[in-house]
Amino acid sequence: MRLLIAEDEPDLLRTLAQAMREQGHAVDEAADGPQALYKASEWDYDAIVLDVMLPGMNGFEVLSKLRLMKKTPVLMLTALTKVGDRIQGLDSGADDYLAKPVDLDELAARVRAVTRRAQGDSSAIIRMGDVEIDTSARRATKSGEPVPLTGAEYPLLEYLARRRKKIVTRTDLYDHLYDENDTPLSNIIDVQISNLRKKLGAEFITTHRGQGYSIEK
Ligand code: CA
Repeated sequence: MRLLIAEDEPDLLRTLAQAMREQGHAVDEAADGPQALYKASEWDYDAIVLDVMLPGMNGFEVLSKLRLMKKTPVLMLTALTKVGDRIQGLDSGADDYLAKPVDLDELAARVRAVTRRAQGDSSAIIRMGDVEIDTSARRATKSGEPVPLTGAEYPLLEYLARRRKKIVTRTDLYDHLYDENDTPLSNIIDVQISNLRKKLGAEFITTHRGQGYSIEK
């Protein structure tokens, strides 16, 4: 999944972005309100982590302007002591909030939860025939046996699995699996699809010529 993290404290921004990359997400960064709003309107992120106190335009303003355009899941970062901030955040259309200081495991879990809700999935487990993925543990099994996947293969599999029975275009995959600083090779998706087929079965992913890929199970 591709996330936007908007936070003006450089050290915290770096820490949050690093933690989310370790969870296999592509991460774009914004250091002020206008930049956050620009990027959020320009790209269809899977989720946005939005600090309340941002220079230029605060998080509430960014959120209310964004909500006029799209429904991207937004998780707000608020000061622990400010109950009013949390209420205002939820009232202005945030999907969840997290108090600072941020617990990185909790942030990862809440990001998973808001994106799962946005996809209409209630469970962390997705079953597709004899293949099952656990989106919390980020693991896959086939007929109950663990299938080792690389850090690039898992996010691709989860992205297709969350949209199973729908065709996902290559453009969509590049937009959601790579961040603004990545320059992926033009055939990298094909290579990873081929690797996933070797591990999960040749029929597991369907190619729709000129359109994209789907999991039909
Ligand atoms: Ca701040």
